[in-house]
Amino acid sequence: MLKISNLQARVESKEILRGINLDIKPGEIHAIMGPNGSGKSTLASVLAGREDYEVTGGTVEFNGKDLLELAPEERAAEGIFLAFQYPVEIPGVTTINFLKTAINQIRKYHEKEPLDAAQFLKLMKEKAKSVKIDDQLLRRSLNEGFSGGEKKRNEIFQMAMLEPSLGILDETDSGLDIDALKIVADGVNQLRSADRSFIVVTHYQRLLDYIVPDFVHVLYKGRIVKSGTKELALELEEKGYDWIKSEADALE
Ligand code: ADP
Ligand code: MG
Ligand code: MG
Repeated sequence: MLKISNLQARVESKEILRGINLDIKPGEIHAIMGPNGSGKSTLASVLAGREDYEVTGGTVEFNGKDLLELAPEERAAEGIFLAFQYPVEIPGVTTINFLKTAINQIRKYHEKEPLDAAQFLKLMKEKAKSVKIDDQLLRRSLNEGFSGGEKKRNEIFQMAMLEPSLGILDETDSGLDIDALKIVADGVNQLRSADRSFIVVTHYQRLLDYIVPDFVHVLYKGRIVKSGTKELALELEEKGYDWIKSEADALE
């Protein structure tokens, strides 16, 4: 599904990603952990095609296409969803309106007719029920005055509506409480399927108690310096990152 080879990227002329290799098959969940500033959010942003990130080398193949050739909205239409891509508050735009536009843009890309109001409403009701989000929340301006948990639920709902083939979650927010972590985890588990994969970037080992990953990777100084199964996350929890840093630094 996703094949990242020797990916290099810089931000404001600073080399951040220094040769990332990662292979993700359909249905797999890959967790990415690592010390602060190692490039985790940069990797997520580069995959989503955010501006400000200059790819300087390597390739990314997504479902047989050259991902790096695609504009951000084309990547979204091809099935990449960066959760927490829109954490901003958008006064006057409700989640419903926002999603209706997003979904119809994706449908247009695939040369499908837009959903009419009734079809959209039906889809929305169905998905709201599946991720247990209150209709009322969807009628409010996006993220305006949302609590941490409400934001998370809303993001999971967005993901449910857009049905991506690769969901990328970047848990940058260190203020997440356990309830919010559980909302994210329940949502991901709900959306988990044989043909949908996830990259879960997280600082929290605890999140991986709820979302059990197939693989755990440690990013350090722009490279994946260690990969393993969920046991690696437990080992990191216990021992911290220093041992991994010294191993990696010794190889530099
Ligand atoms: P992580 O998510 O692993 O904490 P980031 O990808 O956020 O790491 O950051 C990696 C490095 O890139 C850091 O040194 C950070 O300061 C720098 N960086 C990330 N985004 C930007 C940006 N928009 N402008 C300048 N520097 C950035
Ligand atoms: Mg950080
Ligand atoms: Mg980050």
